[in-house]
Parts: sequence; C-alpha cells; structure tokens
Amino acid sequence: MSEPSCRPGCGACCIAPSISSPIPGMPNGKPANTRCIQLDAQNRCTIFGDARRPLVCSSLRASVEMCGNDESVEQTRVHAMRFLSTLETQTSQDVTSN
Ligand code: SF4
Repeated sequence: MSEPSCRPGCGACCIAPSISSPIPGMPNGKPANTRCIQLDAQNRCTIFGDARRPLVCSSLRASVEMCGNDESVEQTRVHAMRFLSTLETQTSQDVTSN
C-alpha cells in the first residue's frame, strides 16, 4: 500500500505539535495546539521551499498512521490532530520524566 500524500487544506501538523526551532514571526518556535503564524487561511505554508522553514517541517511525512485514511479532509484532519496531540503529550512526558 502506498503512503498517502499530504492533503491540501489539512494543516494539522502545523497546529498540533510544538516546534522548538525559530519560525519567521515566531522566534522561539511555537507551543503545541497553536497555529503557526506561517499557515495561511487555506492551511498552506507561506514559507514552503524557503530556507527559513524549520527542518522538522520538511522531515514530517504523511502516513496512514498519522493522517488516517478517511474520505474527507475534515475527517482526516480530525484524525491527524488527535494523533499528533497524543504524540505531543507522550513526548513531552518523556522529556519531563528524565
Ligand atoms: S513553517 Fe510552514 S510547514 Fe512549518 S509549521 Fe509553519 S506553516 Fe507548517
């Protein structure tokens, strides 16, 4: 089975996870569950392809596990938000428990 491609209009991975790298307009990165300032009204990255885009953004790839396999963008977005929020909680607990 092939991996899914990123669904236009989703934007879940630009909202749910925290990002510690600087982002233009967000010099300290962004907290979890916060919309990236570079995400436009159509949920597209305004600095896609720009060297200032954090590496973590380009390293994140769409997958069925993360993005789901639902029919509509909205269902897929809900799945991805839940998955990424759970991952964020698990990884932040790992950091604080060390
Ligand atoms: S920089 Fe672009 S890809 Fe990265 S979180 Fe912000 S909008 Fe998304």
